[in-house]
Amino acid sequence: MRMSLHALSAVLLAAAVPPAAAPKPPADMVLWGGPIYTADDAHPKAEAVAVRHGRIAYVGARAGAKALVGPKTRVVDLKGAALFPGFTDSHAHLREIGDRELTLNLEGSKSAAEAMSRLRAYLAEHKPKGLVYGRGWIETGWPEGRFLNRQDVDAVAPDQPVILQRADGHALTANSAALKAAHIDETTPAPAGGQILKGPDGKLTGMLVDNAMNLLAPIRHEPGREERITAFKAGIKVENAYGWTGVHAMSVDMADVPLLEEMDARGETPLRIYNAVDVEGAAPLFASGPRATKDGRITTRAIKLYMDGALGSRGAVLFQPYADAPTISGTFLMDREVMRAAMAKALISGIQVATHAIGDKGNATTLDLYEGVFKTDPARARTARWRIEHAQIIRPADIPRFHMDGVIASMQPSHAIGDFHFAPARLSKDRLKGAYAWQSLLKSGAVVVGGSDAPVERGAPLIEFYAAVARKDLQGYSDADWHPEEALTRDQALKLFTASAAYARFAEKDLGTITVGKRADLSAFSVDLMTAPLAEIPKGRAVLTVVDGQVVYEKP
Ligand SMILES: [Zn+2]
Repeated sequence: MRMSLHALSAVLLAAAVPPAAAPKPPADMVLWGGPIYTADDAHPKAEAVAVRHGRIAYVGARAGAKALVGPKTRVVDLKGAALFPGFTDSHAHLREIGDRELTLNLEGSKSAAEAMSRLRAYLAEHKPKGLVYGRGWIETGWPEGRFLNRQDVDAVAPDQPVILQRADGHALTANSAALKAAHIDETTPAPAGGQILKGPDGKLTGMLVDNAMNLLAPIRHEPGREERITAFKAGIKVENAYGWTGVHAMSVDMADVPLLEEMDARGETPLRIYNAVDVEGAAPLFASGPRATKDGRITTRAIKLYMDGALGSRGAVLFQPYADAPTISGTFLMDREVMRAAMAKALISGIQVATHAIGDKGNATTLDLYEGVFKTDPARARTARWRIEHAQIIRPADIPRFHMDGVIASMQPSHAIGDFHFAPARLSKDRLKGAYAWQSLLKSGAVVVGGSDAPVERGAPLIEFYAAVARKDLQGYSDADWHPEEALTRDQALKLFTASAAYARFAEKDLGTITVGKRADLSAFSVDLMTAPLAEIPKGRAVLTVVDGQVVYEKP
């Protein structure tokens, strides 16, 4: 049963008045002047929050916080902005977010022609030498009605190698110069888990899907230490400015972990980072078990595995072929035995497994593998909190398995509102039930966490929150095929990015709600997510981001 807000604030007021005889030490920071939502079911709303030594020292009525204001206390008037527990992006690619800032960004191109005019402008402005790399195009809604192809790029860059990755990160288009430099031609066999697309004339289109992208590795430049640090710094800055206090960083190169830890030691990571490392380099992690910097700012406790590809590029593995490509059922990306062996090592060493799975068969196969490994050690399995990343298309019969197996569904609301423009064509109507099934998963008892998959998506918390509660695109469009009944309530959506995100990284005692004693990670937005008209939500912006009681971003 829920208490009314009035009854609740009366209780809070009563509880918050400090006994006059025992004055508390002053707070480092006090915040008030806007609605405060705690995501803590025991006290969902408050008037004021006080912070001391990086932790929440007080939550309650304004009068109680006022008593904690000393001469050195920073008093933050929210001026109507809404305050929440620190928002965490539970699935993002941090270094790549930085790369997006530092290279050609094709995000939001409305046509192949526009993407190519951006490339032309980039070449003219930067006059880059050697390989040109860009990312972020996606053909959804393009008037050309097709993927970007080699000829498009050749027309702008006939001699210089160019690689333009699709927004989903699962495909790219290379121009003729890049293909030639990498010795890829019509006779090149596609590697396992990859596709080299050809046109009706049998010629290369320039599009390489999933593992076939690796064929370009010989001509790609591996970023060095300084470049990586620069990219991480750029990514962290973007995240703080969007209002994120934390990120679950996916597909992290194990070599980047010590780099991030060194950055933390120098005070250069104003973002809470939880790493899921690529399995290829995970041996040291299996040997050491979970690792974290002294204050836990950088925690590394998960590995990332890939079951299948993405829906847009028809790499997601389906039980039945694609409705719009009857000879294709998707691509398994990793050898199942290699995955099983990694999972067994992870379970023994207390390492969380996060597996990318998108198609219904991809998800079912992942659950099968998890269950097989869990049977070998039921005690460890109960505290394993393994995750499936994306969990996009699920057979309705498989939905209860998440809760039964204790598997967390790590989902990206913005994927749904983008993908629904093409998902009905890929899947036909029957498989849309069980697609992006946030509400069904929650109702089944599963833990669902929310992320953006940036730079696949923009990576803005307000877009993710809006997508979760509206389940409409940013223009307000949806239809019955989008299954509006799977939209979330605002309370549910808030937990996706706060309390549940903390649970998914084993930190619910320290993070995820505004509760006395927890770390003071806080996000304030210009729009009240819990009451604003839906269309207003994505128009809002972050105004204040606080990590461990330190202001890491403030709206200028
Ligand atoms: Zn991802």
